[in-house]
Amino acid sequence: MNEQLRLLIDLQAIDTVIINSKAKISAIPQQIASFDGPLKAAKSSLEKLEQQLEAAEKKKKDRDQETNDLNDKISKLKARSSEIKNNKEYQAHLKEIETTEKALNSSEESIKPLLESIEALSKDIATKKDELKTEEDKIKLLKEDLSKEVAEAENELKVVIEKRRAFVKQLDKNTYDLYMGILKTKRGIAVVNTSNEICNGCNMHIPPQIFAEIKTNAEINHCPQCKRILYFSETPEAAS
Ligand SMILES: [Zn+2]
Repeated sequence: MNEQLRLLIDLQAIDTVIINSKAKISAIPQQIASFDGPLKAAKSSLEKLEQQLEAAEKKKKDRDQETNDLNDKISKLKARSSEIKNNKEYQAHLKEIETTEKALNSSEESIKPLLESIEALSKDIATKKDELKTEEDKIKLLKEDLSKEVAEAENELKVVIEKRRAFVKQLDKNTYDLYMGILKTKRGIAVVNTSNEICNGCNMHIPPQIFAEIKTNAEINHCPQCKRILYFSETPEAAS
């Protein structure tokens, strides 16, 4: 095989590793950010429940106060009963006690559903808090793992880039420039193989005469369609 062609095949393999590694590294911050959306939604739903609980507790406190006030009022009314001499006034007085007792009764009744609602909300909040904590812990670990992955991938990438720097010194400048030009315009794939008159870069048919030349691997040949550098190999996974 042509020596420069052999080097280009290896360089493509190195660049494929670099390109994939860079893609992986650049995708991770987005992956990390994607965890925050659902977490934010869970927090906001928890906050709403806490506001509902606070409102229910305030209502209950008001009702308790109202009940106390009514109880006081009834006690005072009853204490005054003996002071009333006039029958008409006495009837009115009894009526007032009766009305106040009814109000007290209805105030006490209205506390029951509030207590039920406070209990249900408190349970719901406790469950949601537990769930949120579990989720937060899980996400924290995932984020740590991903950050570690980035650090590892960046270190590996540095090593490969260093290896590439030494490796390309073996290539003729013209060959290297040619390769880089194709790499840039062909989305990171400049060298592809063919085993059966089909370019593995663009899937187009290679004319038999050109394919015959490629098959010798004696020099650098291009796909007539996509202009990628082609070499012959029975095993299609060799380059890409
Ligand atoms: Zn092609």
